[in-house]
Amino acid sequence: MKRIGILTSGGDAPGMNAAIRAVARKAMHEGLEVYGINYGYAGLVAGDIFKMDPITVGDKIQRGGTFLYSARYPEFAQVEGQLKGIEQLKKFGIEALVVIGGDGSYHGALRLTEHGYNAIGLPGTIDNDIPFTDQTIGFDTAVNTVLESIDRIRDTAASHERTFVVEVMGRGAGDIALWAGVAGGAQDIIIPEHDFDVKAVADKLRTSREHGQKHAVIVLAEGVMHADEFSEKLSEYGDFHLRSTVLGHVVRGGAPTASDRVLASRLGSKAVELLLEGKGGVALGIEKNEIIAHDMLDLFNHKHHAMLDLYDLNEDLAY
Ligand code: ATP
Repeated sequence: MKRIGILTSGGDAPGMNAAIRAVARKAMHEGLEVYGINYGYAGLVAGDIFKMDPITVGDKIQRGGTFLYSARYPEFAQVEGQLKGIEQLKKFGIEALVVIGGDGSYHGALRLTEHGYNAIGLPGTIDNDIPFTDQTIGFDTAVNTVLESIDRIRDTAASHERTFVVEVMGRGAGDIALWAGVAGGAQDIIIPEHDFDVKAVADKLRTSREHGQKHAVIVLAEGVMHADEFSEKLSEYGDFHLRSTVLGHVVRGGAPTASDRVLASRLGSKAVELLLEGKGGVALGIEKNEIIAHDMLDLFNHKHHAMLDLYDLNEDLAY
């Protein structure tokens, strides 16, 4: 194998650039040529492909987003789209690929592997919703970004004795809300993976107000409902001086944390090692601080589970 390609696909996440850098630098270190593919599978099909050198990935490790851009390209789910992509791989002499993205992107990578082009997936998403990895690239940064906002909101909540409902990203997963909620001392954390009772949330608020704690932050995962809707439901049970804040895409941006950069670097380097061993159709993750490869097919048959013991922990600590 002489030439590999790299692409980022699906939602961007801080640390993707660090992963691209790691793949490129490790591959070049091993004597491979590396091609960057812009705009995910859309760019692959369009032939938006360029040769990288060690400088291409210089000064990128600290940047959020992905300098290879990302795109959604549903046409790649069809064989026709995949064959167009393969034509481009042939044209550029690319023999194998690293795909950084979520599970949708992994499906594309598996299809390429089935067509004879080994592809390895790296988990790049802030949502942490991929099975067989304790963390995804971007998750730690997103949690820290939310935490910084919660700390700020707490200042104003305390000054006006208000209750804030803070909605955070995460799609169908509550991981960002859970981690940021525990770290930020949230009064309650509302996530899709756990039942909730608005009246119980209201009762808890009332009790803590009676005990002298006159402000509160409730962290709400976007997968449950909109912050305004939750505030409206809560206001039916009393006047808690409610305000709602939706953090939105702020949570996706920013410089990756050290943890995300190190994770991305380890995953990127391992992906190249596996490609050199002739492996494809696997996704990498970190489990108990070890980089592990899992068959993509196996991964599609499993669900990610949020750490619900963090939910219970918060119930014990916040009242
Ligand atoms: P995120 O979790 O951030 O949304 P993702 O990788 O799951 O990331 P998707 O939009 O689901 O995001 O998928 C990204 C791209 O992967 C799609 O736009 C498409 O090009 C490709 N893709 C998705 N599903 C398939 C599939 N079944 N077969 C081939 N390619 C696919």
